[in-house]
Amino acid sequence: MMVYDNINIIFYKPFTFIFMLIESTFIMVELLSPGGNLEKIRIAIDYGADAVYSGYKKFGLRSRAGNLDKNQIKEAIAFVHKSGRKFYLTLNSYLFDKEFDELIDFLKFLNNYPPDALIVSDLGVLNVVNELTNIPIHMSTQANITNSYAARILKRYNVKRIVAAREMDINDIRSFVKNSSIDLEVFVHGAMCMAYSGRCFLSSYLTGRSANQGDCAQSCRWKYTVVEETRKDAPITIEEHKEGSFIFNSYDMCAVEILDEIIDAGVSSIKIEGRMKSVYYTAVTTAVYRDAVDTILSGGDYKAKIPFYMDELKKISHRPYSLGFYKDKPMQYIKSSGYERNCDFIAIVEKKSKDRIYLKLRGQLKKGKYEFFTHNLRVVYIDIEKIYNIDDTEKSIGNPNEFVYICADINVERFDILRRCN
Ligand code: SF4
Repeated sequence: MMVYDNINIIFYKPFTFIFMLIESTFIMVELLSPGGNLEKIRIAIDYGADAVYSGYKKFGLRSRAGNLDKNQIKEAIAFVHKSGRKFYLTLNSYLFDKEFDELIDFLKFLNNYPPDALIVSDLGVLNVVNELTNIPIHMSTQANITNSYAARILKRYNVKRIVAAREMDINDIRSFVKNSSIDLEVFVHGAMCMAYSGRCFLSSYLTGRSANQGDCAQSCRWKYTVVEETRKDAPITIEEHKEGSFIFNSYDMCAVEILDEIIDAGVSSIKIEGRMKSVYYTAVTTAVYRDAVDTILSGGDYKAKIPFYMDELKKISHRPYSLGFYKDKPMQYIKSSGYERNCDFIAIVEKKSKDRIYLKLRGQLKKGKYEFFTHNLRVVYIDIEKIYNIDDTEKSIGNPNEFVYICADINVERFDILRRCN
């Protein structure tokens, strides 16, 4: 077994810790990570999120994420609070009258197990939450709040935080913070939508799955042709690239390289999109943004770390990155509707015992070269020569969902990630 322990890029200046303590008393920025299910919540907290957001089986805008049932909500809140972090629940669908009885029942349940905030979009939901609970309210990005004037009205209705519309640029964000006394949360990483703040009927029209009720089929990522009204049998292919043209397909957002400006603008919380993405995505994005926030707040050499951050963020599945609307407009054209990915997620470390590393497999494990991605952003290279079943018999290939172990005397811990990179 060959092991190469890579450079951990710690560039902190002397007395960083003390400086961090002093600095953090003045500037606090919450790192908010996606918690699509209990496992992702655990990973997000483990990798340094200050708070996680999840959805219930209904009323949230990701109906195909794992989501949580009532028992899982209780479990998640207990776990997150025991870790000293915060748990927010999404109730950001747009509802019809017929759905309110069920919402009211659910809110009664939440009164016994209150999350730290409810994320809402619909004014009717806002009204009912206010009438039936004392749970703080965050106004969802889906509510399209783009200015401090709207925020002032919402403050009268127990809204403690606005999740900024993604169409706000860095100057809009500065202006909002200056002109309002309400917390502002902004997205810094994840998928973008070609429709204005996600208000889109494309998916609903083409598939019957409504984006406004959390069931988007990602129809904007498909290929389209132009049809002249009187010549329906002569569709015109739209060609911008020989490999295809996906004219509604927005680039992803990755704002790590301007995170210092975003924090300086006075936001209270930075949010990572992706409740439906893998635990690997959750781990890497949370670890990278955790380190970036801490480095910025501590006066560390954040700029020097940006190439490493970008390198790591390109190892998770993503579309080409843009800065969203922060500086310009996100690009809308790419040559593929799929994701780019430089590494495959192979396993998660379940346990380390002496020189044995127990792995829960998510991909296929064969002999060969791999890397561990660890909590503190270390990358440990490893050449795996033998794979063992739990009963100590050797095997040549491990398959997804199996438990196996490998032998290596290296410094990894529970929930570190094993991946195979190109
Ligand atoms: S179909 Fe595309 S543009 Fe419409 S809501 Fe879904 S992701 Fe957004």
